[in-house]
Amino acid sequence: MSVLLETQGLTKRFGGLTAVNGVSLTVRRGEVLGLLGPNGSGKTTLMNLISGALKSSEGALLINGKDMTGAPPHRIAKSGVARTFQLVKILPSLTLEENVMVPAAFGPDRLWGRALKAQVAECLDMVGLHARAGQQASELTYIDQKRLELARALASAPKLLLLDEWLAGLNPTELHEGIRLIRELEQTGITIIMVEHIMDAVRALCPRCAVMNSGTLIADGPTDQVLSDPHVVAAYLGE
Ligand code: ADP
Repeated sequence: MSVLLETQGLTKRFGGLTAVNGVSLTVRRGEVLGLLGPNGSGKTTLMNLISGALKSSEGALLINGKDMTGAPPHRIAKSGVARTFQLVKILPSLTLEENVMVPAAFGPDRLWGRALKAQVAECLDMVGLHARAGQQASELTYIDQKRLELARALASAPKLLLLDEWLAGLNPTELHEGIRLIRELEQTGITIIMVEHIMDAVRALCPRCAVMNSGTLIADGPTDQVLSDPHVVAAYLGE
């Protein structure tokens, strides 16, 4: 498998605080990587550096072999990166179709006409919302809002999808559905980095995990091995 994403010594400082400290991470095409770590360990900041929402203080970011260090979010999106957010960001007054149309039309490929309609339909279909395309987004239940957010992220046909606690807040039945949905996405060959606290989901979906603590990458490897690593266990216990 070829490398899709590489960070080299990526560092982000906020004043005197180093939120991400020299993180070097390589993600291959088609991988589903779990990004773990206690609260405040730098996971969201790292996702923001990868998506271009934040500029690194030091280090390099390579996507598809291209140097994207310091590139603005739209250029990174054009290179095939899309994300979901911890707090759902759908447009409640628009229909489901319109919600997906916005990122598809204004995304890196700027689709229009029939191609746009087809792409929107495919994304809604992928998340199981196709039959409700004309419904207003404000009428959706929480899991369906999450589904819609995923469809919005998929609208730009990304190569790398960043999921920020996409499974958080779901009840056990919904969680099961959510896991199945991510599995289906994985089958399409998309590469996923998921920040996730639900360990059952991490075990079910991620063959590999990376763990951060105080901004530093403290473990990276096969999930079983990583989760039983004493350094990782200690980080979670706050030692
Ligand atoms: P996590 O996602 O693992 O919970 P974050 O990346 O959100 O961690 O935060 C890492 C550290 O950086 C925390 O100490 C947090 O308070 C700090 N931080 C995050 N964003 C900012 C910001 N915009 N300004 C200042 N400090 C920040």
